[in-house]
Amino acid sequence: MCYFEQTRWNCGYWKWGNFRQQCNKEYRTGETCGLKLVYDTSYQPGQCKICDQITKKDRRVRKMCEDIQRWQREGNRRATIEKTQQDITDINVQISDLWRSHQEKQRSIA
Ligand SMILES: [Zn+2]
Repeated sequence: MCYFEQTRWNCGYWKWGNFRQQCNKEYRTGETCGLKLVYDTSYQPGQCKICDQITKKDRRVRKMCEDIQRWQREGNRRATIEKTQQDITDINVQISDLWRSHQEKQRSIA
């Protein structure tokens, strides 16, 4: 068991940081035994990179929905609307993938 720094964000996501201290099971200099323990947790204000990506994609989807509504009022934009609806579907798939990896990380201890 070797000790590592850990970073934790407000949203619950976390990651390992620098290696801090070797345990007595490991004698090779600079090597770690593979079992990670938390040496110290630094808390980051705000949300993690995954949440940032989700927020950005979410904003894009909302913008595209507004565009579609506008185009529907204007008429004659059928092809553009269909294309944008497809884009929205694609981005929503990406968002749910990101969420899944975020939640898996939150649930896992190491
Ligand atoms: Zn997050």
